[in-house]
Amino acid sequence: MNTTPALTQDAVASRTIFDPATGEPVGEAPVHTVADLQHAVDVALAAQPAWAASGHEARSAALLKAADAVEARAEELAQLLSREQGKPLNGPNARFEVGACAAWLRAAAGTPLEAETVVDDGETRAELRYRPIGVVGAIGPWNWPMMITIWQIAPALRMGNAVVVKPSEYTPLSVLALVETINEVLPEGLLTVISGGRDVGEALASHPAIGKVMFTGSTATGKAIIRSSADTVKRLTLELGGNDAGIVLPDADPKAIAEGLFWGAFINTGQTCAALKRLYVHADIYDAVCDELTNVAEAMPMGNGLDENNVLGPLQNRQQYDIVARLVEAAKASGARVLLGGNPDADQPGNFYPTTLVADIDNDNPLVVEEQFGPALPIIKFSTVDEAIAKANALDVGLGASVWSSDLSAAREVASRIEAGTVWINKHGAVDPRVPFGGAKQSGYGLEFGVEGLKALGVPQIING
Ligand code: NAD
Repeated sequence: MNTTPALTQDAVASRTIFDPATGEPVGEAPVHTVADLQHAVDVALAAQPAWAASGHEARSAALLKAADAVEARAEELAQLLSREQGKPLNGPNARFEVGACAAWLRAAAGTPLEAETVVDDGETRAELRYRPIGVVGAIGPWNWPMMITIWQIAPALRMGNAVVVKPSEYTPLSVLALVETINEVLPEGLLTVISGGRDVGEALASHPAIGKVMFTGSTATGKAIIRSSADTVKRLTLELGGNDAGIVLPDADPKAIAEGLFWGAFINTGQTCAALKRLYVHADIYDAVCDELTNVAEAMPMGNGLDENNVLGPLQNRQQYDIVARLVEAAKASGARVLLGGNPDADQPGNFYPTTLVADIDNDNPLVVEEQFGPALPIIKFSTVDEAIAKANALDVGLGASVWSSDLSAAREVASRIEAGTVWINKHGAVDPRVPFGGAKQSGYGLEFGVEGLKALGVPQIING
């Protein structure tokens, strides 16, 4: 088993990670350095050729075993994830995330990728195939730390690459435990976690021996990675920030859609890249949607993630709590109407911000135009579909969006006019390992999942002749 490389420091530096629900320590994470990164790259370079030579079948078999290993430790992993990230065990949260890790490993193993004959006309025969890249770097965020790591590493391994993972400094323990589990079945040196800070991320993004960076995180960091990877012309998949719009057409049934709207916006307590972050509702049903959504939201318990009753948890870190609090205060100061929440208890030890719904808010309010990444949803009234689409498209990000209607073909027509990587109909944020996922505009580029996701972890090669 090789979770972390031998540290180059004499004394192993470590950092205490605290539970965002209680402020209690969860564990100690190693603080790796740029020298440790170099060691991990050296080990990866040594391990990768044999892995690449082993072929798709053997690599898929190893990924299936890795999925079994994750399942065998599922509850232990979910408990750690809940304590470190804050998300409850129950609901679409920690157990769901660990289950998704196994599902995505199996999907990466099971997706066929055949060489493609592009032309074969008697004179020219050209075939497109994919070679391994070599060593891939995977830099991840703190909101879905295990699942997003799997999204990055499963296709990379399947395609014959070695991987060096740089988890968020907020949630390294989850990723270390996940990789330790997977490494029970992988050859030594192929998959390593470097638990360091921004300096290590920068060094990884500029490292000459790393052929591709899979990055999920903020748009600002994505831009920094584009810059630091430029000199080595690195391949990049960038899954960046979003500010997803949902558009509720006048023929939607407010009661029927309320729960879907709620989870679209509040999954992982709003700390989700492709969560519904701005809700546009037609004036005819505006009040009814506000009422039904408030009824659903009021009934969803928030608290310590280890308590089985809870389905919403704290913000993972104080910085994110402060962003949400600032944006809700700005909304209140503008005269917007708070339907629910907006009144955090400053004396409690955790980073709990109450579920907040804000109505009668202007489209240029900071709570609408900035990514809140937390449990506070602005609800904006519109009169015409053209107006709603224009507002949905007005921002420079475009990860996901949704349209809610009883008329599927009308909804699809509206969906086709929205500038986003995915537009869901009567749901929001549902991801599927068979369906490609990626952003438009400044939400990034490159696709993950499915055969497109595998292709992104290889170097296309044409054999002509
Ligand atoms: P972040 O950009 O602050 O950090 C992400 C990672 O990048 C961390 O591991 C961090 O250490 C590293 N990093 C920071 N500076 C770096 C640099 N200069 N070079 C290399 N690495 C560097 O993001 P976050 O706050 O952890 O995550 C929240 C953001 O991620 C939100 O904007 C959210 O929308 C986005 N996100 C996007 C997706 C998606 O699929 N599009 C999924 C989840 C989260």
